[in-house]
Amino acid sequence: MSLPQMMWAVSVVIMTSHFVTELKAAVVLLGLAMVVIGANRLNRKEQIVFAVYSLAMYCMSMVILSQSNSLSTVTEIVVMIAFALILVCGPMLHRFEMSMLENVLVSKNKELSNALDLVKELAVRDELTGAYNRRFLMDFLVQQKAQADRRDYEFTLCFIDLDFFKRVNDKFGHGAGDHVLRQFCEIAQSLLREVDCVARMGGEEFIMVLAGTPQQDALIVAERLAAQMADMVVSPNEPNYRITASLGVTAYRRDEDIHVTMERADKALYDAKRTGRNKVIIADLEAHQINFG
Ligand code: GH3
Ligand code: MG
Ligand code: MG
Repeated sequence: MSLPQMMWAVSVVIMTSHFVTELKAAVVLLGLAMVVIGANRLNRKEQIVFAVYSLAMYCMSMVILSQSNSLSTVTEIVVMIAFALILVCGPMLHRFEMSMLENVLVSKNKELSNALDLVKELAVRDELTGAYNRRFLMDFLVQQKAQADRRDYEFTLCFIDLDFFKRVNDKFGHGAGDHVLRQFCEIAQSLLREVDCVARMGGEEFIMVLAGTPQQDALIVAERLAAQMADMVVSPNEPNYRITASLGVTAYRRDEDIHVTMERADKALYDAKRTGRNKVIIADLEAHQINFG
């Protein structure tokens, strides 16, 4: 109800109670119900106007009734106080309740948005290693390609495959193999910058994307990777056991399909495997022996 409607309704209630003195309490109760329901729809300023107007009306009725001596003073004063209290406290309680509801809603919204962030993060991460998954990688590559096609910008792909990984599982068990995969990812992530990306493509195969980096610089990353992998302990039972990796590297060439870049890196990796593993091959260039073990 709007303010004028409320004022009209309260006027009718008070005038009725004024003339029907026997039923005054019942009529005033009806008015109070209206106040509780209707006043909640008014804003603070309108509520004050409505309260002042209603009380003034009520007082006027009391003054007129007292002049005609048809006023039972104590009852009338009690009813008036109740009326005034409801007028003031009703909307206040309503506001209090609404603000509590608002707080609950805000905190629920926050929980929901945190859960959503977590779901989004999980959707792009590999469960075992925490590295990005293939879906994220492909989106990342599309963005990198867009940048490289637009302006003077280059990025490099490194396909990585751990050598003889099956042997690790066979020798030390699947749990040790999983541990190696996690360790490898930790190392790779620690070497890369925020703008780079490492993704697990499946099994013991990973792709690193070096943003804004020419392919020759991938050798520096590979050297660091090799140095850290040399400290990696596969199993405490055999602390000297080392695993190595083979890398196929290539830079994106402007305007080519990203799948062409990926095929080139894959072929370089295949060549690294074919020619003895434990090395880096830059596509269409020479092989680089880097000792990972
Ligand atoms: P190569 O040097 O030619 O790459 O030999 P490889 O043994 O590394 O390659 P191959 O493809 O023959 O075997 C890969 C192994 O990786 C086989 C599989 O058991 C293991 N593997 C794949 N996914 C997981 C995983 O999530 N956890 C563990 N522990 N092992 C995995
Ligand atoms: Mg493999
Ligand atoms: Mg392998």
